[in-house]
Amino acid sequence: MTSSPPPGLDRRRFLQLTGLSAATVALGVSAPADAAAVAGAVDVPAGAFGLGVASGEPSADGFVLWTRLAPQPLAADGHGGMPREDVVVSYEVAEDRAFATVVKTGTAIASPALAHSVHPEVRGLQPGREYFYRFRAGDQVSPVGRTKTFPAAGQPAARFTFAMASCQAWYHGYFTAYRDLAQRAVDAVFFLGDYIYEYGIVAGGNLWRQGVSVGVEHGVEIETLEQYRLRYSLFKSDPDLQAAHASAPWLMVWDDHEVQNNYGSDNSLYGIPPKLFVHRRAVAYRAFYENLPLSLDSLPQGPDSLVYRRFDVGTLARLNLLDTRQYRDPLPVDEADRLSESRTIMGQAQEEWLYGGMTGSPAAWNIIANGVVITAVTDGRVEQWDGYPANRRRLLAAMEQTSNPVALTGDIHHHVAAELKADFTNPSSKTVGVELICTSIGSDGDGADTDAYAKDWLQHPYVKLYSGRRGYVHTTLTPTEMTSEFVTFPYIEADAGAQPKVLARFRTPAGSPRLEAL
Ligand code: FE
Ligand code: CA
Repeated sequence: MTSSPPPGLDRRRFLQLTGLSAATVALGVSAPADAAAVAGAVDVPAGAFGLGVASGEPSADGFVLWTRLAPQPLAADGHGGMPREDVVVSYEVAEDRAFATVVKTGTAIASPALAHSVHPEVRGLQPGREYFYRFRAGDQVSPVGRTKTFPAAGQPAARFTFAMASCQAWYHGYFTAYRDLAQRAVDAVFFLGDYIYEYGIVAGGNLWRQGVSVGVEHGVEIETLEQYRLRYSLFKSDPDLQAAHASAPWLMVWDDHEVQNNYGSDNSLYGIPPKLFVHRRAVAYRAFYENLPLSLDSLPQGPDSLVYRRFDVGTLARLNLLDTRQYRDPLPVDEADRLSESRTIMGQAQEEWLYGGMTGSPAAWNIIANGVVITAVTDGRVEQWDGYPANRRRLLAAMEQTSNPVALTGDIHHHVAAELKADFTNPSSKTVGVELICTSIGSDGDGADTDAYAKDWLQHPYVKLYSGRRGYVHTTLTPTEMTSEFVTFPYIEADAGAQPKVLARFRTPAGSPRLEAL
C-alpha cells in the first residue's frame, strides 16, 4: 500500500522524499528528519492556502488533515501558481481555536508530484472531542479548521450528528447550502458523489452562477491530470465550500462525475476504448486523492484506488462507505442481462466485505453511504441499483440481518426519503431499512419543488418525500431514534443569499425502520 510510488514519480525519488522508511512514512503524510533542509530552499508565493483546509476520516484517536498549496488556484496550467519544487508544510492541532493548548505538531512534504497537497494522519488524541488545526508554509499561516474525533471504540455514545451533501456543479449556482451547513458544527459530513463535473463550462450555456466568468481553459471536457486539478481548484475556490470543509471532518464517497458521466469500471459511456479510458481514470482518481482529506489507504496505484472503507462511532453507529463505480458490471444490454443473478454493482470482494461488516456489526445503527439510488423506481435508470437487482436483493437480505440499516445516497439532484422493502416487487413485503437521498448542492441550479419525474417516485407508497430544490440533509442519531431534516433553498443562481427552509423532518425509531413525518 505505502511502498510503491504514485504514477509519475520514480522509486528512488519517492524513497528520498519519504525518508525514514517507505513502509511507515509516505509522501505528503509526514516528512523525513532532514525536512528543514528542504524547507529553506523554496519561497512560497503569497496566498499559498487559497484552497483552504480540510479534515476527514475521523477515528477515536485522530483524523486526516489536508491542504493543497495553491497561491494562484486558477492558474490555467493546473499547477496553482506553485514552483515545481518540494515545500515543507507544518501543522498544529490544538484543543482550542486560539491554539493556547497545542497537542500535536508535525510536518509533511508538499510535492509537485501530488499537486502540493499534504495528507498528514494525526493519531494519539482523545476520543469524542473537538480539535482545531492549522498549517504553515514558510511564513504563511492557513485558516483554522475545526474537527472532531469519534467516540471511544466499543463504548456507547449518546449522540452523533451528521450532514449529507452531493453533486456540486459549481457553474450551476452558489453553494448557499454549504454556507448554512458550515454553521451547524456537525460531528461529520458525508459527501455522496459528484464533487466535480468534467463537462466544459461555457458562458451562455451551462454557466448559470450569475456574476462570474471563467477562462477559455474551462470550456472543454477535462481529461488530463492538470485539467482535473484545475477543475478541483475552480470548485474549491468557493468560500462556502471551504467553510464547510473547515467546519467538520468529511467522509468521501465518489460517483461518476469525478471521472466521466456514467462510467463504470473501465467502460466509458462515450466509446473511449477501455485501454485508453483507464489512463483517464488514473489521473481522475489521482486528482480526487490530491484534493480531498483522504488517508494513504486511498492513494491510487495506477487506475486503482481503494475508497470503500468502514468507520465506527463507538457502538452507536458503524459507517460503511461504498464504491459503486470502480468494480461494477457494464450496464445491462437487455432485460435478461439486467436480471442476471451474477450481476454486481459493488464487485464480489466489496459485497463480501460489506455484508460481513453489517451482519456482524456491534453498532445500533449501520450506515451505508453510497453513490446511486437503491430504492426501486420505474424511471428506467439502469445506472442505479435498478440496473443491478440481484446485487440489490443480496444487500436487502443483509439489511434484514442488520441492526437499523440506513442508506445515504446522492446522485439524483432531488431530496427523497424512502423505506427500503425486502422485495420491491411486493410492496407489502417487510421494510428492512430506510434510504435518505440528499439533493444536490449546486447541480441543476434553482430547481423546483416538483417536476416531471415526481410521479415516478411518489406513486410508490414507500416514497415519503420528493423535492427538486437544492440543499442538504442534517441527521441526528441517538440510541433510540434517528431524526432526519431535509433543508432546501429557494434559489442559488442569482447569489448566495437565500435563506434555508426545513422542508421535512422524519423520525426513525430504533428497532423499527420506517419514516414517521414530524
Ligand atoms: Fe450529480
Ligand atoms: Ca452522479
